[in-house]
Amino acid sequence: MEAEAKPFRWSFSQWEAYNQCPAKWHFKNVLKLPSSPPGPAAARGLDMHDRCDKYVANAIDVQTLRYGDPTMRFGGKKPAVIAEKYLPILDSYKDHPNGVRHSEYRMGMTNEFTLTSPNIPGVWCVGVLDAVRFGGAWTGPERGQDDGILRIAEWKSGTPKDTHADQRKLYALFGLRGWQPDVVEVTTYYLEDTAPPERLVVKPSAEEKLKDLWRGRVEQMQKDKICAPRSGAYCQWCDYSRLKGGPCKVS
Ligand code: SF4
Repeated sequence: MEAEAKPFRWSFSQWEAYNQCPAKWHFKNVLKLPSSPPGPAAARGLDMHDRCDKYVANAIDVQTLRYGDPTMRFGGKKPAVIAEKYLPILDSYKDHPNGVRHSEYRMGMTNEFTLTSPNIPGVWCVGVLDAVRFGGAWTGPERGQDDGILRIAEWKSGTPKDTHADQRKLYALFGLRGWQPDVVEVTTYYLEDTAPPERLVVKPSAEEKLKDLWRGRVEQMQKDKICAPRSGAYCQWCDYSRLKGGPCKVS
C-alpha cells in the first residue's frame, strides 16, 4: 500500500528560513536534522516575549516585565529591558476593557485560507500572534473608539529586519480571516527602543492580494525540489555548515 503524502505545513518562521537559504530550511524542516537550542540572542528575545505574554495575562508585575530576572544571562548579556514608553501599549492590551483580547494567540488556516485549529494534522499554516485586541472603547495613548478595528502587536527585541514587513502581511491576513474587521493594524514594536514602531494598515479589500502573495510564496517553497544553498554572513551560525560538520556543500 502506498504511504499517503504528508500534508504540507508551514509557519512564518519556516518561510523566513526558506527565504534566507532554501537548503537550511530543507535540512531543518523537511529532513528534520537536529539543530542546536536557541543561541543567546534568540533566548534573550524569547525571554522578553514570555514576559510580555505573562504581563498581558496579568501573571507578572511591571518590574518583572521591564527588567526580567536580573540573574539571567544570555551569553553574557542581561535580559532585554523594555523601554518605559511602551508600557502604555502593553497596558492597552492587558486592560482592554470591553473588546476581544488575546496574548500568544495561535491560529491555523487551510490552503484555501479557511480558519481551522492550529492543532489538527491537516493544518496548512500556523501563526502565533503576540497580542490581539478587537473593538471597544479604550484608554491607551491613542484614545478613542475602536469599533471595527483589529489591532495586532508583534513584540521584538533587537533591531528591525526586512522580514518583519512580511510577517505583518501574514498576520494581517490572519486578522482579516479571523475577525472580519473594517480595518486591521499590525504593528511591530521594538521594545528596547532601538527603532520606532512599524505598522501595516489594511482593509478587507486587500485580502485577495494578501492571499495571492502567500499562495505564490508557499507554492515556490513546496515545489522546490533543489533547495539550493544561499550563503551569507548568517552561515557562521548555521548548524548545517561544513565547518560544523553539517551536510551543506557550499559554506
Ligand atoms: S551554511 Fe549557509 S548556505 Fe549552507 S545551509 Fe547553512 S545557511 Fe545555507
